[in-house]
Amino acid sequence: MSVPSFSWPQFDETEVQAVADVVRSGKWGNPDCTEAVADFEEAFAGYCGASHGVTCVNGSVSLRLALMACGVRPGDEVIVPPYTFIATASTVIEVNCVPVFVDIHPDTYNLDPAAIEAAITERTKVIIPVHFAGLPCDMDAILGIARRHNLRVIEDAAHAHGAEYKGRKLGSIGDAGSFSFQSSKNLTSGEGGIVITNNDDLHRTMASLRNVGRLPEGQWYDHFNPGCNYRITQLQAVLLSAQLARLEAQTLQREANGLYLDELLRDIPGIRPLSRGDVPIRHSYHLYIFRYDASFFGGMSKQEFVQKLAATGVPCSGGYPHPLYKQPVFQHKNFLCYAIPESVDYANVHCPVAEKACSDEAVWIFQHVLLGTRADMEWIAGQIRSLQTSH
Ligand SMILES: *Cc1c(COP(=O)(O)O)cnc(C)c1O
Repeated sequence: MSVPSFSWPQFDETEVQAVADVVRSGKWGNPDCTEAVADFEEAFAGYCGASHGVTCVNGSVSLRLALMACGVRPGDEVIVPPYTFIATASTVIEVNCVPVFVDIHPDTYNLDPAAIEAAITERTKVIIPVHFAGLPCDMDAILGIARRHNLRVIEDAAHAHGAEYKGRKLGSIGDAGSFSFQSSKNLTSGEGGIVITNNDDLHRTMASLRNVGRLPEGQWYDHFNPGCNYRITQLQAVLLSAQLARLEAQTLQREANGLYLDELLRDIPGIRPLSRGDVPIRHSYHLYIFRYDASFFGGMSKQEFVQKLAATGVPCSGGYPHPLYKQPVFQHKNFLCYAIPESVDYANVHCPVAEKACSDEAVWIFQHVLLGTRADMEWIAGQIRSLQTSH
Protein backbone atom coordinates (compact mmCIF):
# COMPACT_ATOMS: atom_id res chain seq x y z
CA MET A 1 0.00 0.00 0.00
CA SER A 2 1.31 3.46 -0.84
CA VAL A 3 1.57 6.19 1.79
CA PRO A 4 -1.94 7.54 2.47
CA SER A 5 -2.42 11.29 2.20
CA PHE A 6 -3.87 12.95 5.28
CA SER A 7 -5.11 16.51 4.95
CA TRP A 8 -6.57 19.20 7.22
CA PRO A 9 -8.69 21.29 7.21
CA GLN A 10 -11.42 19.68 5.12
CA PHE A 11 -13.63 22.05 3.14
CA ASP A 12 -15.36 22.55 -0.19
CA GLU A 13 -17.26 25.24 -2.06
CA THR A 14 -19.63 25.65 0.93
CA GLU A 15 -16.89 27.35 2.96
CA VAL A 16 -15.62 29.32 -0.06
CA GLN A 17 -19.13 30.59 -0.81
CA ALA A 18 -19.91 31.47 2.81
CA VAL A 19 -16.78 33.58 3.12
CA ALA A 20 -17.23 35.16 -0.32
CA ASP A 21 -20.80 36.16 0.60
CA VAL A 22 -19.57 37.98 3.71
CA VAL A 23 -16.85 39.72 1.73
CA ARG A 24 -19.37 40.91 -0.87
CA SER A 25 -21.82 42.07 1.81
CA GLY A 26 -19.24 44.43 3.29
CA LYS A 27 -20.46 43.35 6.74
CA TRP A 28 -17.19 42.07 8.10
CA GLY A 29 -17.50 42.86 11.77
CA ASN A 30 -18.57 45.26 14.48
CA PRO A 31 -20.06 47.76 15.22
CA ASP A 32 -23.32 46.59 13.71
CA CYS A 33 -22.54 43.43 11.78
CA THR A 34 -22.55 40.61 14.28
CA GLU A 35 -25.44 38.37 13.18
CA ALA A 36 -23.18 35.60 11.87
CA VAL A 37 -21.19 35.64 15.11
CA ALA A 38 -24.34 35.41 17.24
CA ASP A 39 -25.69 32.63 15.00
CA PHE A 40 -22.52 30.58 15.45
CA GLU A 41 -22.43 31.15 19.22
CA GLU A 42 -26.00 29.92 19.51
CA ALA A 43 -25.35 26.94 17.23
CA PHE A 44 -22.17 25.83 19.00
CA ALA A 45 -23.57 26.30 22.52
CA GLY A 46 -26.70 24.43 21.40
CA TYR A 47 -24.60 21.61 19.95
CA CYS A 48 -22.86 21.31 23.33
CA GLY A 49 -26.10 21.48 25.31
CA ALA A 50 -25.08 24.78 26.96
CA SER A 51 -27.19 27.92 27.19
CA HIS A 52 -24.57 30.51 26.14
CA GLY A 53 -21.46 30.89 24.02
CA VAL A 54 -19.02 33.82 23.86
CA THR A 55 -16.63 33.70 20.91
CA CYS A 56 -13.27 35.43 21.11
CA VAL A 57 -9.95 35.70 19.30
CA ASN A 58 -8.49 32.40 20.51
CA GLY A 59 -8.69 29.55 22.99
CA SER A 60 -6.29 31.27 25.40
CA VAL A 61 -8.37 34.43 25.73
CA SER A 62 -11.45 32.23 26.25
CA LEU A 63 -9.72 30.71 29.31
CA ARG A 64 -8.82 34.20 30.54
CA LEU A 65 -12.42 35.44 30.15
CA ALA A 66 -13.66 32.46 32.16
CA LEU A 67 -11.07 32.99 34.91
CA MET A 68 -11.88 36.70 35.20
CA ALA A 69 -15.61 36.04 35.25
CA CYS A 70 -15.12 33.48 38.04
CA GLY A 71 -13.97 36.38 40.21
CA VAL A 72 -10.40 35.31 40.94
CA ARG A 73 -8.26 37.78 42.94
CA PRO A 74 -4.47 38.37 42.77
CA GLY A 75 -2.60 35.54 44.48
CA ASP A 76 -5.45 33.04 44.24
CA GLU A 77 -4.42 29.52 43.26
CA VAL A 78 -5.66 27.61 40.23
CA ILE A 79 -5.10 23.87 39.86
CA VAL A 80 -3.89 22.83 36.41
CA PRO A 81 -2.21 19.76 34.92
CA PRO A 82 1.44 20.09 33.84
CA TYR A 83 0.87 18.04 30.68
CA THR A 84 -0.99 20.51 28.45
CA PHE A 85 -0.42 23.48 26.17
CA ILE A 86 1.13 26.52 27.88
CA ALA A 87 -2.11 28.56 27.66
CA THR A 88 -3.78 26.47 30.37
CA ALA A 89 -1.21 27.82 32.86
CA SER A 90 -0.08 31.12 31.28
CA THR A 91 -3.62 32.53 31.31
CA VAL A 92 -3.61 31.91 35.07
CA ILE A 93 -0.52 34.16 35.32
CA GLU A 94 -2.30 36.73 33.15
CA VAL A 95 -5.04 37.09 35.78
CA ASN A 96 -2.38 37.44 38.52
CA CYS A 97 -3.06 34.00 39.93
CA VAL A 98 -0.78 31.09 40.76
CA PRO A 99 -0.86 27.91 38.68
CA VAL A 100 -0.57 24.90 40.98
CA PHE A 101 0.50 21.83 39.02
CA VAL A 102 -1.11 18.50 39.89
CA ASP A 103 0.18 15.36 38.17
CA ILE A 104 -1.70 13.39 35.53
CA HIS A 105 -2.86 9.79 35.77
CA PRO A 106 -0.57 7.31 33.97
CA ASP A 107 -3.46 5.57 32.20
CA THR A 108 -5.24 8.67 30.85
CA TYR A 109 -2.76 11.60 30.95
CA ASN A 110 -5.60 13.63 32.51
CA LEU A 111 -5.54 15.32 35.94
CA ASP A 112 -5.39 12.61 38.59
CA PRO A 113 -8.38 13.29 40.88
CA ALA A 114 -6.66 11.40 43.72
CA ALA A 115 -3.89 14.04 43.70
CA ILE A 116 -6.07 17.15 43.49
CA GLU A 117 -7.30 17.31 47.07
CA ALA A 118 -3.79 17.35 48.54
CA ALA A 119 -3.02 20.46 46.44
CA ILE A 120 -5.99 22.48 47.69
CA THR A 121 -5.26 25.36 50.11
CA GLU A 122 -7.40 28.21 51.39
CA ARG A 123 -6.24 30.23 48.37
CA THR A 124 -7.49 27.71 45.78
CA LYS A 125 -10.35 29.12 43.71
CA VAL A 126 -10.52 27.20 40.43
CA ILE A 127 -9.67 23.80 38.94
CA ILE A 128 -8.95 23.68 35.20
CA PRO A 129 -9.28 20.08 34.03
CA VAL A 130 -7.92 19.67 30.49
CA HIS A 131 -9.65 16.94 28.50
CA PHE A 132 -6.31 16.06 27.04
CA ALA A 133 -6.31 14.79 23.45
CA GLY A 134 -10.13 14.79 23.67
CA LEU A 135 -10.32 12.09 26.36
CA PRO A 136 -12.82 13.18 29.04
CA CYS A 137 -11.48 13.84 32.55
CA ASP A 138 -13.11 12.08 35.51
CA MET A 139 -15.70 14.85 35.87
CA ASP A 140 -17.72 13.18 38.64
CA ALA A 141 -14.66 13.07 40.86
CA ILE A 142 -13.53 16.59 39.93
CA LEU A 143 -16.96 18.16 40.42
CA GLY A 144 -17.27 16.34 43.76
CA ILE A 145 -13.97 17.84 44.97
CA ALA A 146 -14.99 21.28 43.67
CA ARG A 147 -18.31 21.10 45.50
CA ARG A 148 -16.67 20.05 48.79
CA HIS A 149 -14.19 22.94 48.62
CA ASN A 150 -16.41 25.54 46.96
CA LEU A 151 -14.23 25.83 43.85
CA ARG A 152 -15.12 26.76 40.29
CA VAL A 153 -14.39 24.34 37.44
CA ILE A 154 -13.33 25.66 34.03
CA GLU A 155 -13.00 22.86 31.49
CA ASP A 156 -10.19 23.39 29.00
CA ALA A 157 -11.90 21.66 26.07
CA ALA A 158 -9.48 22.94 23.42
CA HIS A 159 -9.06 19.31 22.26
CA ALA A 160 -12.58 18.18 22.96
CA HIS A 161 -15.09 19.56 20.44
CA GLY A 162 -17.91 17.03 20.24
CA ALA A 163 -16.52 14.71 22.92
CA GLU A 164 -18.84 13.40 25.64
CA TYR A 165 -18.76 12.27 29.25
CA LYS A 166 -21.73 10.10 30.29
CA GLY A 167 -23.83 11.49 27.45
CA ARG A 168 -23.00 15.17 28.07
CA LYS A 169 -20.84 17.25 25.76
CA LEU A 170 -17.53 18.30 27.27
CA GLY A 171 -17.33 22.00 28.07
CA SER A 172 -20.96 22.03 29.25
CA ILE A 173 -20.31 20.19 32.53
CA GLY A 174 -18.25 22.63 34.65
CA ASP A 175 -18.99 26.31 35.35
CA ALA A 176 -17.55 27.18 31.93
CA GLY A 177 -15.92 25.33 29.03
CA SER A 178 -13.22 26.82 26.81
CA PHE A 179 -12.52 25.79 23.19
CA SER A 180 -9.89 26.79 20.63
CA PHE A 181 -10.45 27.16 16.88
CA GLN A 182 -6.74 27.46 16.05
CA SER A 183 -5.81 25.73 12.81
CA SER A 184 -4.76 22.37 14.27
CA LYS A 185 -7.94 21.96 16.35
CA ASN A 186 -10.87 19.69 15.47
CA LEU A 187 -13.05 22.71 14.61
CA THR A 188 -11.16 25.62 13.10
CA SER A 189 -11.31 29.05 11.50
CA GLY A 190 -7.54 29.51 11.48
CA GLU A 191 -7.71 31.29 14.83
CA GLY A 192 -10.57 31.75 17.28
CA GLY A 193 -12.08 30.49 20.51
CA ILE A 194 -15.30 30.22 22.45
CA VAL A 195 -16.31 29.83 26.07
CA ILE A 196 -19.65 28.20 26.82
CA THR A 197 -21.63 28.23 30.05
CA ASN A 198 -25.02 27.51 31.59
CA ASN A 199 -24.55 30.33 34.10
CA ASP A 200 -26.30 33.60 33.11
CA ASP A 201 -24.06 35.79 35.31
CA LEU A 202 -20.83 34.28 33.97
CA HIS A 203 -22.17 34.73 30.45
CA ARG A 204 -23.00 38.40 31.00
CA THR A 205 -19.54 39.12 32.43
CA MET A 206 -17.63 37.17 29.77
CA ALA A 207 -19.58 38.82 26.92
CA SER A 208 -18.79 42.21 28.45
CA LEU A 209 -15.07 41.46 28.93
CA ARG A 210 -14.86 40.30 25.30
CA ASN A 211 -16.44 43.56 24.12
CA VAL A 212 -14.32 46.24 25.87
CA GLY A 213 -16.44 46.09 29.00
CA ARG A 214 -19.71 47.08 27.31
CA LEU A 215 -23.07 45.84 28.57
CA PRO A 216 -26.23 45.40 26.48
CA GLU A 217 -28.05 48.16 28.40
CA GLY A 218 -25.17 50.66 27.95
CA GLN A 219 -24.23 52.90 25.04
CA TRP A 220 -21.31 52.31 22.63
CA TYR A 221 -18.94 54.44 24.71
CA ASP A 222 -20.08 53.11 28.10
CA HIS A 223 -17.56 50.70 29.61
CA PHE A 224 -18.51 48.83 32.78
CA ASN A 225 -15.75 46.22 33.03
CA PRO A 226 -11.98 46.09 32.39
CA GLY A 227 -12.24 44.09 29.15
CA CYS A 228 -10.63 44.44 25.78
CA ASN A 229 -11.58 43.94 22.14
CA TYR A 230 -11.40 40.16 21.79
CA ARG A 231 -14.12 39.86 19.14
CA ILE A 232 -13.97 37.62 16.06
CA THR A 233 -15.06 38.71 12.58
CA GLN A 234 -18.09 37.65 10.56
CA LEU A 235 -15.66 35.90 8.17
CA GLN A 236 -14.52 33.58 10.95
CA ALA A 237 -18.09 33.04 12.13
CA VAL A 238 -19.41 31.80 8.78
CA LEU A 239 -16.37 29.58 8.32
CA LEU A 240 -16.99 28.10 11.79
CA SER A 241 -20.68 27.53 11.07
CA ALA A 242 -19.82 25.68 7.87
CA GLN A 243 -17.19 23.61 9.69
CA LEU A 244 -19.58 22.91 12.58
CA ALA A 245 -21.91 21.20 10.12
CA ARG A 246 -19.08 18.67 9.50
CA LEU A 247 -18.04 18.19 13.13
CA GLU A 248 -20.42 15.46 14.24
CA ALA A 249 -19.63 13.12 11.34
CA GLN A 250 -15.89 13.81 11.65
CA THR A 251 -15.99 13.15 15.39
CA LEU A 252 -17.75 9.82 14.92
CA GLN A 253 -15.23 8.81 12.28
CA ARG A 254 -12.27 9.75 14.47
CA GLU A 255 -13.75 7.77 17.31
CA ALA A 256 -14.35 4.66 15.16
CA ASN A 257 -10.79 4.83 13.86
CA GLY A 258 -9.40 5.53 17.34
CA LEU A 259 -11.12 2.43 18.70
CA TYR A 260 -9.83 0.41 15.76
CA LEU A 261 -6.27 1.66 16.30
CA ASP A 262 -6.59 0.68 19.99
CA GLU A 263 -7.42 -2.84 18.86
CA LEU A 264 -4.58 -3.00 16.32
CA LEU A 265 -1.89 -1.49 18.55
CA ARG A 266 -2.79 -3.41 21.68
CA ASP A 267 -1.30 -6.50 20.01
CA ILE A 268 2.09 -4.87 19.52
CA PRO A 269 4.39 -5.49 22.51
CA GLY A 270 5.73 -2.21 23.89
CA ILE A 271 2.80 -0.12 22.57
CA ARG A 272 0.04 0.71 25.05
CA PRO A 273 -2.88 2.94 24.05
CA LEU A 274 -4.23 5.16 26.86
CA SER A 275 -7.25 3.90 28.77
CA ARG A 276 -10.73 5.18 27.95
CA GLY A 277 -11.89 4.48 31.52
CA ASP A 278 -15.03 2.61 32.48
CA VAL A 279 -17.86 5.14 32.11
CA PRO A 280 -19.56 5.82 28.76
CA ILE A 281 -17.59 8.42 26.82
CA ARG A 282 -17.06 9.76 23.35
CA HIS A 283 -13.40 10.59 22.67
CA SER A 284 -12.78 13.37 20.12
CA TYR A 285 -9.20 12.23 19.39
CA HIS A 286 -7.62 15.61 18.82
CA LEU A 287 -4.61 13.38 19.32
CA TYR A 288 -4.35 9.61 19.26
CA ILE A 289 -1.84 8.87 22.03
CA PHE A 290 -0.04 5.64 22.82
CA ARG A 291 2.62 4.84 25.37
CA TYR A 292 5.92 3.67 23.92
CA ASP A 293 8.24 1.31 25.76
CA ALA A 294 11.76 1.39 24.32
CA SER A 295 12.72 -1.95 25.85
CA PHE A 296 10.50 -3.69 23.27
CA PHE A 297 12.21 -1.75 20.45
CA GLY A 298 15.84 -2.67 21.16
CA GLY A 299 16.24 0.36 23.41
CA MET A 300 15.54 2.88 20.62
CA SER A 301 14.79 6.25 22.26
CA LYS A 302 11.32 7.71 21.89
CA GLN A 303 12.77 10.61 19.90
CA GLU A 304 14.37 8.22 17.40
CA PHE A 305 11.21 6.10 17.20
CA VAL A 306 9.06 9.14 16.45
CA GLN A 307 11.50 10.39 13.83
CA LYS A 308 11.47 7.03 12.08
CA LEU A 309 7.70 6.73 12.28
CA ALA A 310 7.26 10.25 10.87
CA ALA A 311 9.66 9.38 8.06
CA THR A 312 7.35 6.54 6.98
CA GLY A 313 4.58 9.13 6.43
CA VAL A 314 2.62 8.84 9.69
CA PRO A 315 1.93 12.42 10.91
CA CYS A 316 3.12 12.10 14.52
CA SER A 317 5.15 13.72 17.26
CA GLY A 318 6.70 13.00 20.64
CA GLY A 319 4.60 15.83 22.08
CA TYR A 320 5.74 18.24 24.77
CA PRO A 321 9.46 17.96 25.60
CA HIS A 322 8.85 18.98 29.25
CA PRO A 323 5.99 19.43 31.69
CA LEU A 324 4.93 23.08 31.86
CA TYR A 325 6.59 23.88 35.21
CA LYS A 326 9.99 23.25 33.54
CA GLN A 327 9.41 26.10 31.10
CA PRO A 328 11.67 29.13 31.62
CA VAL A 329 8.69 31.38 32.41
CA PHE A 330 8.06 29.30 35.55
CA GLN A 331 11.60 28.17 36.44
CA HIS A 332 12.97 31.73 36.15
CA LYS A 333 9.76 33.39 37.36
CA ASN A 334 9.64 35.70 34.37
CA PHE A 335 6.29 37.08 35.47
CA LEU A 336 6.92 40.65 34.22
CA CYS A 337 4.08 42.93 35.31
CA TYR A 338 1.93 40.17 36.78
CA ALA A 339 1.31 40.17 40.53
CA ILE A 340 2.52 36.68 41.45
CA PRO A 341 3.53 36.25 45.13
CA GLU A 342 7.32 36.21 45.78
CA SER A 343 6.99 32.92 47.64
CA VAL A 344 5.94 31.03 44.51
CA ASP A 345 8.71 28.67 43.40
CA TYR A 346 8.56 26.06 40.65
CA ALA A 347 12.15 24.79 41.05
CA ASN A 348 11.06 21.95 43.32
CA VAL A 349 7.88 20.90 41.53
CA HIS A 350 7.95 17.28 40.35
CA CYS A 351 5.17 15.47 38.57
CA PRO A 352 6.78 12.11 37.74
CA VAL A 353 3.98 10.82 35.50
CA ALA A 354 4.04 13.95 33.32
CA GLU A 355 7.85 13.88 33.21
CA LYS A 356 7.87 10.27 32.01
CA ALA A 357 5.17 10.97 29.43
CA CYS A 358 7.26 13.82 28.02
CA SER A 359 10.67 12.15 28.02
CA ASP A 360 10.08 8.47 27.29
CA GLU A 361 6.53 7.45 26.76
CA ALA A 362 3.95 9.58 24.94
CA VAL A 363 3.62 9.39 21.16
CA TRP A 364 0.99 11.54 19.44
CA ILE A 365 -0.70 10.88 16.11
CA PHE A 366 -2.57 13.95 14.85
CA GLN A 367 -6.36 14.17 14.62
CA HIS A 368 -6.72 14.44 10.85
CA VAL A 369 -5.07 11.03 10.47
CA LEU A 370 -8.14 9.52 12.13
CA LEU A 371 -10.27 10.91 9.29
CA GLY A 372 -8.60 8.28 7.09
CA THR A 373 -9.92 4.82 6.24
CA ARG A 374 -9.73 1.59 8.24
CA ALA A 375 -7.08 0.48 5.77
CA ASP A 376 -5.08 3.60 6.68
CA MET A 377 -5.21 2.54 10.36
CA GLU A 378 -3.93 -0.92 9.40
CA TRP A 379 -1.14 0.74 7.42
CA ILE A 380 -0.16 2.80 10.50
CA ALA A 381 -0.08 -0.30 12.72
CA GLY A 382 2.05 -1.95 10.04
CA GLN A 383 4.58 0.89 10.08
CA ILE A 384 4.89 0.64 13.88
CA ARG A 385 5.37 -3.13 13.68
CA SER A 386 8.03 -2.75 11.02
CA LEU A 387 10.05 -0.42 13.30
CA GLN A 388 9.95 -3.17 15.90
CA THR A 389 11.13 -6.00 13.68
CA SER A 390 13.78 -3.92 11.91
CA HIS A 391 15.46 -3.52 15.28
C1 LIG B 1 -4.67 25.09 21.65
C2 LIG B 1 -4.86 25.05 23.11
C3 LIG B 1 -5.23 26.18 23.88
C4 LIG B 1 -5.19 27.59 23.36
O1 LIG B 1 -5.78 27.81 22.20
P1 LIG B 1 -5.28 28.97 21.20
O2 LIG B 1 -6.47 29.13 20.34
O3 LIG B 1 -4.07 28.45 20.49
O4 LIG B 1 -4.99 30.19 22.02
C5 LIG B 1 -5.53 26.00 25.22
N1 LIG B 1 -5.44 24.80 25.80
C6 LIG B 1 -5.06 23.71 25.13
C7 LIG B 1 -5.00 22.41 25.84
C8 LIG B 1 -4.73 23.80 23.78
O5 LIG B 1 -4.29 22.72 23.12
